[in-house]
Amino acid sequence: MDTLKSRIRLIPDFPNVGILFYDITTLLRDPVGFKTALDGMSTPYQGQGISLVIGIESRGFILGAAVADRLGVGFCPIRKPGKLPAKTIKEAFHLEYGSDAIEIHADAIEPGQRVLIVDDVLATGGTASAATRLVKRLGGELHGLAFLIELVGLNGRQHLEGEQIFSLLKY
Ligand code: AMP
Repeated sequence: MDTLKSRIRLIPDFPNVGILFYDITTLLRDPVGFKTALDGMSTPYQGQGISLVIGIESRGFILGAAVADRLGVGFCPIRKPGKLPAKTIKEAFHLEYGSDAIEIHADAIEPGQRVLIVDDVLATGGTASAATRLVKRLGGELHGLAFLIELVGLNGRQHLEGEQIFSLLKY
């Protein structure tokens, strides 16, 4: 895992002063790093009956779509408001300053469908928690959430109580 961590670039004060940004573009452009990350995020979910992977905009699309392909299942995007063209449902969540929201197509999940949510970073957990609410409102059965990186000190897990959470790299 240290080899993977060495491929992630840390950028201080981006996008705001005081934020240490985990830049995964340096990992994604490395074929061995990208493959190792996808192996690590997909293997735990083989044979678990998952039939849909949901990726959160935007880096969750890159990882989630590749994980879906490896699991042999479909992919569905959760996007920022106003981006999805058909009928959507929305969930808001709190940021450190202010709030944000995410949307999913209202017909994206079949009731009872077993779903895996994928994103790059679990930070405060607000985004992931809103994503779980979207899945449940559409009647999906949430198998769990998979992250490449978990920022343990921010305790995002507190917003995801009762959910099965996997993170490949912990900081
Ligand atoms: P949160 O809702 O606080 O858990 O934030 C999660 C979302 O914000 C993820 O989609 C990440 O892509 C992004 N994010 C939050 N903090 C960072 C960070 N320090 N470095 C990179 N991405 C981050």
